Amino acid sequence: MADKRKKKDGLARYRAKRDFAVTAEPAGGSGDDSPGGRFVVQRHRATRLHYDLRLEMGGVLASWAVPKGPTLDPKARQLAVHVEDHPVEYYDFEGVIPGGEYGGGDVIVWDRGTWEPAKTGDPVRAVERGELHFDLRGEKLAGRFVLVRRAHDGDDDWLLIHKDDEYARRGWNPEDHPVSVKSGRTNEEVAAAPEALWRGDLPAAEASVAVAAHGHWSAASPEELAALAELGDGGTWTVGGHRLRLSKLGKVLFPRAKGRKEVTKRDLIAYHSTIAPYMLPYLAGRPVNVHRFPDGVERPGFWQKAVPAHAPEWLTTWRDTEAEADRTGRYAVVDKVASLAWMANHGAVELHPWISGLRDVHEPDWALIDIDPGEKTRFADILLLARLYGEALRHLGVEGMPKVTGQRGVQIWVPVRAGYTFEETREWVHKVSRAVGRTVPELVSWEWYKDRRDGLARLDYTQNVRNKTLVAPFSARPAPGAPVSVPITWKELDDPDLRPDRWTVHTVLDRVREAGDPLHELIGRPQELPPL
Ligand code: MN
Repeated sequence: MADKRKKKDGLARYRAKRDFAVTAEPAGGSGDDSPGGRFVVQRHRATRLHYDLRLEMGGVLASWAVPKGPTLDPKARQLAVHVEDHPVEYYDFEGVIPGGEYGGGDVIVWDRGTWEPAKTGDPVRAVERGELHFDLRGEKLAGRFVLVRRAHDGDDDWLLIHKDDEYARRGWNPEDHPVSVKSGRTNEEVAAAPEALWRGDLPAAEASVAVAAHGHWSAASPEELAALAELGDGGTWTVGGHRLRLSKLGKVLFPRAKGRKEVTKRDLIAYHSTIAPYMLPYLAGRPVNVHRFPDGVERPGFWQKAVPAHAPEWLTTWRDTEAEADRTGRYAVVDKVASLAWMANHGAVELHPWISGLRDVHEPDWALIDIDPGEKTRFADILLLARLYGEALRHLGVEGMPKVTGQRGVQIWVPVRAGYTFEETREWVHKVSRAVGRTVPELVSWEWYKDRRDGLARLDYTQNVRNKTLVAPFSARPAPGAPVSVPITWKELDDPDLRPDRWTVHTVLDRVREAGDPLHELIGRPQELPPL
């Protein structure tokens, strides 16, 4: 009895902390005296597809992995592998478990509702004994089920059976009902644009990390920006609900250039905090490599990958389990306004997000084309090459968008569906680039070494590799006047005023307010690359 009471108290504490408005059905029969609770079935594409049946009991989610999924078919006897209890916080998790972590893959809330034990008042004991009868009230599943351990005590293999009651449906197949009851999305759709990641390395209460690649971030408010303007050379500033210690705000990071104002650290912080709604969709949910110039861009900068020890605890980070022990382990993941501001305060002039996200860092979600000018390359040549790529992509029926780098070149970003390897995207970009290069051999060199290229442009496909990066849209570049990398439309390639460094941190906000971001609609597009 004492045991049971303790378990019920644990659940009560949990209930007090949770918002039960999210539950699909009201508490229903599972009042205070009922030993039942909530149930969920998650469809989980890990190494193998399976469904996870989870029954809330004793303050945790008792869990079974059902390879073929639960069914209403009373004739089916589905294998159900009893797996470890999950924290209750996992109840309505839908999103992606990063590759490399246990259970890496995508998860949807396939069904949820309430459950009640039958034939027993103590389901925890029933599970220990190896046989649990229970009723489900979900959106897809309903009626009486039995979970029964197959053979011996301690064996993890159980069977899941639906009784032949009024809810039974012969031939009912869970795969015919593939859509999440939480979001209406399929596993494929969630994988292409997850809204949350499950970080098994964090405590359960914090493990669900918002990604919101399609989310909406607010820029710093006018009041927050006014407070930043009024700070002296340093002090505490609050943005997006997070407090930052800022220092040396008057420091000139970018000297003035012809017709362009100088840019102080305060200016860069204000810029990052204002451009955030446009920039964060390219940064959230992926590690970032940072090019820092704490003494300004006229002094040498350095690349920083590891998150410094003094980073605030609200900064999202990701540990690269494949990094060698002495190499960079923990990367920053920039997913909020405050993180962008914090980066600027550390002189992080350039932000280079990974091409692959935490969902699976081995799978790129962009195929990147980099038109890299040589000394003899004129901007007109770059534009010609970009147009040739544009024609090639149109011909192939593939969507992509050009982006000026803020320095001399142009890149083309092509979204791809989940599941490609870097080898595949690299090879695809290589082939398209060869075809483009063949039409203008006088402009292009295929030499790896810069000094052997005779000053010609290079069509660089080699960035399509894990942990290689290109500069983020709307990131500043380390040059006088603080030019910015900006996505443009194909049509704008014909604009006589176009320059690769046309926009700066002082002018690009007007540009996006007028023209928006043409690349934004391609984020997360699950695009197939046609074979070449
Ligand atoms: Mn699972």
